[in-house]
Amino acid sequence: MATDVGHFVEREHALQNLACRDPLTSLLNRRAGEEALQGCHAAAQVSGQAYAVIMTDIDRFKRVNDVYGHAAGDRIIAAVAQQLSQSVRSTDALVRWGGEEFLIALPGLELPAALELAERIRLAVASCHDAEVGSVTLSLGVAAGQAASSAIDTVHRADHALYAAKEQGRNRVLADGAVPDGRPGTLAGPVGL
Ligand code: GH3
Ligand code: MG
Ligand code: MG
Repeated sequence: MATDVGHFVEREHALQNLACRDPLTSLLNRRAGEEALQGCHAAAQVSGQAYAVIMTDIDRFKRVNDVYGHAAGDRIIAAVAQQLSQSVRSTDALVRWGGEEFLIALPGLELPAALELAERIRLAVASCHDAEVGSVTLSLGVAAGQAASSAIDTVHRADHALYAAKEQGRNRVLADGAVPDGRPGTLAGPVGL
């Protein structure tokens, strides 16, 4: 009987995993990620703790597909996801938000710490090497959660910073708005370093 129940619970977990995970990367899928993000925002409102969101997208990825084919593109997406997994804590929510776009929700992190993490991720991904494709770079936008507004507003602000990072030349980290020490949106990347 106990074995039967154990088997049932295991199967239930496996089904839940299938429903929540993206098959290519094993990251949270968009639907599960939206739920995790809402949870992160709600918990921050209750506790008064900070949280931040990183939105990131692979640079010039269409070229990878065009030159090396879709299978190579898939391999690069999975490799970037793997690198992201190694860079975050188990309490962070790491989401395949779209094709080659990822969202990371970071409970307890203020903007400066989230910017540092984003820069570490940028460097880690840029130093990875695929035997066929070589290396790819990321642009990253970072926004601090605001208790008075919504989780989706935080995502929009991170997305806005990501868009600005693309506009400014890609392969860089940009913050939404001013960071607390008064500097305008921190810029990191090959130009700033
Ligand atoms: P940018 O630097 O502006 O981001 O340029 P980009 O070429 O990366 O442009 P964009 O982000 O708009 O392109 C995303 C491309 O990713 C388009 C689509 O063909 C490809 N893509 C989306 N999902 C997948 C996937 O699951 N596998 C593969 N191989 N390609 C995908
Ligand atoms: Mg892209
Ligand atoms: Mg994209």
